[in-house]
Amino acid sequence: MLAAGPACRNAGLGSGSEADVKAFLIEANDTMLRLIIEANQAGWVQNTYITPDTEAMAARASGAYMTAVTGFAKRAAEYDNVELPATERRQLAVLKNALTMAAPADPKEAEELAQLVASMEGMYGRGKYCQAGESDEACFDVEEITEILAKDRNPARLLEVWEGWHSIAPPMKKSYARFVELSNKGADELGFADTGAMWRSKYDMTPEAFSQELDRLWGQLQPLYLSLHTYVRAKLRERYGDQVPADGPIPAHLLGNIWGQDWSNLFDMVGPSSGAASISLTDVLRARKVSPAEMTRYGERFFTSLGFEPLPPTFWERSLFVKPRDREVVCHASAWNINFVDDLRFKMCIDQTAEDFTTIHHELGHDFYSRAYAGQPPIFRDSANDGFHEAIGDTIALSVTPEYLVKVGLIDRAPDASGDIGLLLRTALERLAFLPFGLVVDAWRWQVFSGQVTPDNYNRVWWELRERYQGIRPATARGEELFDPGAKYHIPANTPYARYFLAAVLQFQFHRALAQAAGCTTPLHRCSIYGNAEAGKRLKATLEMGASRPWPDALDALTGQRQMDASAMADYYAPLKAWLDEQNRGLKVGW
Ligand SMILES: [Zn+2]
Repeated sequence: MLAAGPACRNAGLGSGSEADVKAFLIEANDTMLRLIIEANQAGWVQNTYITPDTEAMAARASGAYMTAVTGFAKRAAEYDNVELPATERRQLAVLKNALTMAAPADPKEAEELAQLVASMEGMYGRGKYCQAGESDEACFDVEEITEILAKDRNPARLLEVWEGWHSIAPPMKKSYARFVELSNKGADELGFADTGAMWRSKYDMTPEAFSQELDRLWGQLQPLYLSLHTYVRAKLRERYGDQVPADGPIPAHLLGNIWGQDWSNLFDMVGPSSGAASISLTDVLRARKVSPAEMTRYGERFFTSLGFEPLPPTFWERSLFVKPRDREVVCHASAWNINFVDDLRFKMCIDQTAEDFTTIHHELGHDFYSRAYAGQPPIFRDSANDGFHEAIGDTIALSVTPEYLVKVGLIDRAPDASGDIGLLLRTALERLAFLPFGLVVDAWRWQVFSGQVTPDNYNRVWWELRERYQGIRPATARGEELFDPGAKYHIPANTPYARYFLAAVLQFQFHRALAQAAGCTTPLHRCSIYGNAEAGKRLKATLEMGASRPWPDALDALTGQRQMDASAMADYYAPLKAWLDEQNRGLKVGW
């Protein structure tokens, strides 16, 4: 095969012929495919059977993949000035942007960078809050703290635990500052201004234009967020009195979540008192004894109803649906395509709950997407932009309406429209409340990577952004001896975050377009595209493109629009906004 020998290495920028580039791309595609499969195999075993050995093997395999891609990305940058057909040009561009962290050429610095990230991830993973002054040591990990913040209503206890979790982060601060230096050096060697600029270059537009896009989308949704914020603040004030201001930011520890990014645990406190009780899918699943595999079958049938092929038999043989009793596994749900073609799997410790029913659809979205683009060269086997991958399954989950549940026989009768506000408020507390946090995490990091924010004002700027976007404030002083950003997984793990904001916006844009294609005449939150061939055709065409075209082309194929548009989310929640504004009459909006 052509790819067997190393492609010839060009000495200077802009040199090399089209033939050189083609040979290079064959080598890059083949090598990446081989290394991804190895990393997937090792990663799967590690995730479903955690031992020190499987962890070492998985780290080795993913390290080999990262090193190879870094090398290919650097070589791709050498062909910037070669005349090329569009496909080859795009493969080089995607390759150059494939990394979230570029290792510096100096092997000692590269090694140091890899160790910094591994050690910060380790600090986060082992992070615990241990209560002082107890003879029996009482320590809480992130799951236990999450549980307390979700259920406890004693503000003193909530504050203590909230502060306790943030105490895991200060030891990371020095490492993080050094990590910023080294990863910027790697980004610079690839030709990017800094690591943040490298992340923002993934979107088929300039880094500056991408930042403006996010601001524009947020502008479309801010009025809706303000209505929700004002309403929730008033309800919290009823509960907690003067600890919650009438017109200022909400204290961060009272929102039912460590980061104030998901307020759904407040539903029992803020839900509407009148209207039909919304159906409890959790109760239905339990009463009918729907097994984890059967729950997954419902998700599969949704996709096949749209014209997708059923999942392969190996999916059912090889996936993990329940938590094993005899070994440690990573229960955090994830979807896999081991051979990068059709060895689809998923790994999840499924409970019979409505939440897990939704997560199943989310994960299957990843699986059906990755199989749909398997016909593309390996470099293009990815989503149109990273928001798309997270949005597909959630788009399907938006079609899990009461009417859909009737259609598939899970409930007998859909509740009437009097329950709609409750239905909408429940999801808004999760998806709408999330949006400003989805912006803050990278707004902070972009300024850190660019050098605009330095270690002596990490925490101050973090809280300024949280106040500006989320309308949230810490209850006690948070000085620079602390490192509050480090208490969020994606900071020590160096995972870009803007994708989650994009996914939250895109899923509603996708849903509105597919609902129109399916000829829905009901309000958006009551429309399901289940069984609609036209909607399925559009979805499939988009997924099959993978990353082969700039994302506006993929968006166009799905929605007929070339711009991301948050008005779909505003439309979806329009009935809720009217209701919230009614409740908020006489209250000050904003902070
Ligand atoms: Zn996902």
